[in-house]
Amino acid sequence: MNEGNAFNTEPDVLLIGAGIMSATLGMLIKQLEPSWTITIVEKLDGAATESSDAWNNAGTGHSAFCELNYTPEKQDGTIDTTKAVKIAASFEESKQFWSYLVEHNIINPPSSFIHPIPHCSFVWGEKNVDFLRKRHSALTKCHLFKGMQFSDDPQEIEKWMPLVMDGRENGPVAATKMDLGTDVNFGSLTRCLFDCLKKDKTVSLHFNQDVTDLRKRAGKWEVKVKDEISGEKRTVRSSFVFIGAGGGSLPLLLKSDLPEGKGFGGFPVSGQWLRCINEEVIQQHHAKVYGLADVGAPPMSVPHLDTRWIKGKQELLFGPYAGFTTKFLKKGSILDLFKSIKFSNIKAMLGAGYHNLPLTKYLIDQVRLTPDARVDALKAYYPAARKEDWELAIAGYRVQVIKKDEEEGGVLEFGTEVVSAADGSMAALLGASPGASTAVSIMLGLLKKCFPQKASSDAWQAKFSEMIPSYGLSLGSDADLLKKVRTWTSGVLDLPNLEQTATAG
Ligand SMILES: Cc1cc2nc3c(=O)[nH]c(=O)nc-3n(C[C@H](O)[C@H](O)[C@H](O)COP(=O)(O)OP(=O)(O)OC[C@H]3O[C@@H](n4cnc5c(N)ncnc54)[C@H](O)[C@@H]3O)c2cc1C
Repeated sequence: MNEGNAFNTEPDVLLIGAGIMSATLGMLIKQLEPSWTITIVEKLDGAATESSDAWNNAGTGHSAFCELNYTPEKQDGTIDTTKAVKIAASFEESKQFWSYLVEHNIINPPSSFIHPIPHCSFVWGEKNVDFLRKRHSALTKCHLFKGMQFSDDPQEIEKWMPLVMDGRENGPVAATKMDLGTDVNFGSLTRCLFDCLKKDKTVSLHFNQDVTDLRKRAGKWEVKVKDEISGEKRTVRSSFVFIGAGGGSLPLLLKSDLPEGKGFGGFPVSGQWLRCINEEVIQQHHAKVYGLADVGAPPMSVPHLDTRWIKGKQELLFGPYAGFTTKFLKKGSILDLFKSIKFSNIKAMLGAGYHNLPLTKYLIDQVRLTPDARVDALKAYYPAARKEDWELAIAGYRVQVIKKDEEEGGVLEFGTEVVSAADGSMAALLGASPGASTAVSIMLGLLKKCFPQKASSDAWQAKFSEMIPSYGLSLGSDADLLKKVRTWTSGVLDLPNLEQTATAG
């Protein structure tokens, strides 16, 4: 199906997949080089139908305000805030780019994709309370986390999260709360970006187009595309290709025979939520409340009780319950994992598999959870929860990156990885964490890697700074700069302005 302009089979840029990553890269390129032609091909019948859809992810604007796995406790008992600072600064870059797009009427209104919502952490038990106190103290030394509140007073915590305290037995509890947290509808944002892109005569966007193969010939990538409806086959020739196919990126990277992609493997993890269907309960919660992951659980299964805004309506989700799967995409095939095993990655896959047997067992056990066991997990966060108020929903899938390792053969990683050709002609995005929230930083890094000369040119540098005023500067070490950009983004995106509160106070 053609969306607007005719199919351009000789574009300057080919984007594979219509999720948030391709949308972000496409929009950045359109701002930097308006004359470049872009073709976007998507296997499914619409944009943002896999991980980027609102119901398939948690919609947390990851800023490390509430995610306890971003601040591990070191062996000496101190808290490592390095990852938290990096993620918080990355999300500030996303907010700046989105503010630029809102001001240029590319996305409007901001409430179509972003809502303020307090980001809270909640723990129980002496040891965890002590951890949270130390975490709060370590984080609030950095201006990125100024305004974060800590409490171990059950009455105060009840005001922040009444459902969490409803029916809870006495015992030590603690929570933190950051009012600058956000819920982001990445699906809405993605669709909005593509709607805007496809209006440009240099962009052609096509759904139901499955990329089946890709090869480099005579200095260009030749990409085979099959129309899922008509069966028509096309070859798209482009000097730059981005594989932004989410879970489908690894199989395409392996097919491309790119030397830099050799040895990579994938470990898929499925996800499920409990979705609240009782309006009265939904209205009683106004926060994203993150806890600690179970021992042996992967970081993406950190439980959270989340207020969401989807299609203009407030919702309440609990989860995710991560599970074992062999599919790489929600609408993928059960053969995906087996088909991804190649001579080049078998050692890494077996090594990572062998060293992660307890994780695999955990994920298989999670798939087998009974409805009562799922509600028991919810009751740890909402003790008065009733089974009849919740229904099971299927979330998106994530393919965790497996990389070669000298000692173990292969290691499993939980972050994202941009794999790019040495000549900059191709890049693929693997992995899914922290994910959509950091799409802007990831794509800025990709542009620098793939277009080094352009990226250091005066023209691109000036445009980067116009779109993202903190570009090239450190938000983690420059408090005045942070104040300036937060005042701007909070004003444009209708978020609380903590900077103003701090000054006034
Ligand atoms: C359960 C869960 C919770 C999450 N929570 C959060 C969160 O709270 N905050 C956050 O920031 N991130 C979160 N994420 C991560 C976030 O959803 C992803 O990082 C992000 O959506 C990935 O975007 P993408 O564009 O790479 O992939 P996708 O949105 O999956 O898009 C890839 C597209 O490529 C298409 N495709 C695949 N193969 C082909 C092919 N061969 N040819 C053509 N098209 C193809 C697919 O159909 C799909 O539309 C979560 C993810 C999951 C699964």
